[in-house]
Amino acid sequence: MNKDSFAKSTETLKQTVPLMIKHKVPTTPANYALWYTYVSQESPLLNQAMDGEIAAQGQCTPTTCEQLYHQHIATKAVQDISQLKQSLTLMMQEVSHSMTDTLTETESFQLNLDKGFTKLESAEREGLSLEETMGLVRGLIKESRNIQLSTGAFKSQLNTAQQEIATLREALQESQKEANEDALTGIFNRRAFDRDIDSVQQKNIPFSLIMLDIDKFKIFNDSYGHQLGDQVLKAVSRRLKESCREQMQAYRFGGEEFAIILVNKNHSTARQHAETLRRSIERISVLDRRNGERINTITASFGIAEKSRAETAEEVICRADTFLNDAKKLGRNRVLPLS
Ligand code: GH3
Ligand code: MG
Ligand code: MG
Repeated sequence: MNKDSFAKSTETLKQTVPLMIKHKVPTTPANYALWYTYVSQESPLLNQAMDGEIAAQGQCTPTTCEQLYHQHIATKAVQDISQLKQSLTLMMQEVSHSMTDTLTETESFQLNLDKGFTKLESAEREGLSLEETMGLVRGLIKESRNIQLSTGAFKSQLNTAQQEIATLREALQESQKEANEDALTGIFNRRAFDRDIDSVQQKNIPFSLIMLDIDKFKIFNDSYGHQLGDQVLKAVSRRLKESCREQMQAYRFGGEEFAIILVNKNHSTARQHAETLRRSIERISVLDRRNGERINTITASFGIAEKSRAETAEEVICRADTFLNDAKKLGRNRVLPLS
């Protein structure tokens, strides 16, 4: 474990527990996470909200604590994924148990300490031998070591818990990103396409759609190999992505087929955009490492459709796809319909 972060979390811990006791906050996992984050000042918005609450109410009520926990600590994303939420709760429970143990041990230590002192006093009165007195002192030292050990273990557990929460959040963000990204080309995948087209459809926002498919790609793969084929897919994706301005998004629809959603754009804009892309793809040149040959015969066919009021997203996709097939039949490397 990193020494600095350990020292920092210990410092945070030292301030958190007294603060929770002062505000009579129950030591639940959620509250612990909330107040720990408050003291660590990791989330300025949370601190603002809690300071405001304490200033206005003189305290942070359990209901407010719970609300703030959900708003600031358990982010929406975490709430969505029940498994992650569960592990988060389990982890905080573990930390909380350990905190309760430590507090109990502190109390029992205090008791033993008091007993020890009483005995020491009576030792003086009753004239206990030096050996007997030393025995008592040794007992106290042992007791204090035990409590130090268990507090140390608790601190390190807390630190691990905090780190695990951070790792879980990162993993969650990463997995959400991966779920919508095509692994080969890095552009959005079919899943993202379905999500976005559903979204514009539901909000009733006008859009146009470009569907494109690389021409004779099977022959390309057969002639130059799958690896070079992959290079072409990447090159096409890069051009699609770079061509997209605001309110346009490119997707790998599947295989060597791509799509662009153009939000709030009409047929004519979509056509111009597709035509620019068609020419841009014509200019792609990839190097065949086996013989140093440059291949620049890559082309694609396009079908476009502007959504009409009555149409569903599926119908728009189907219409663009039909135009794409027509473009293939008419000789490929073209955009249909013409106007
Ligand atoms: P058309 O002009 O009619 O579209 O002909 P085509 O050969 O492009 O179409 P077809 O559907 O017959 O073949 C598509 C090819 O795309 C076959 C498949 O191997 C290739 N392909 C699909 N995904 C990948 C990929 O990820 N990498 C590579 N290298 N090739 C792919
Ligand atoms: Mg093809
Ligand atoms: Mg195809």
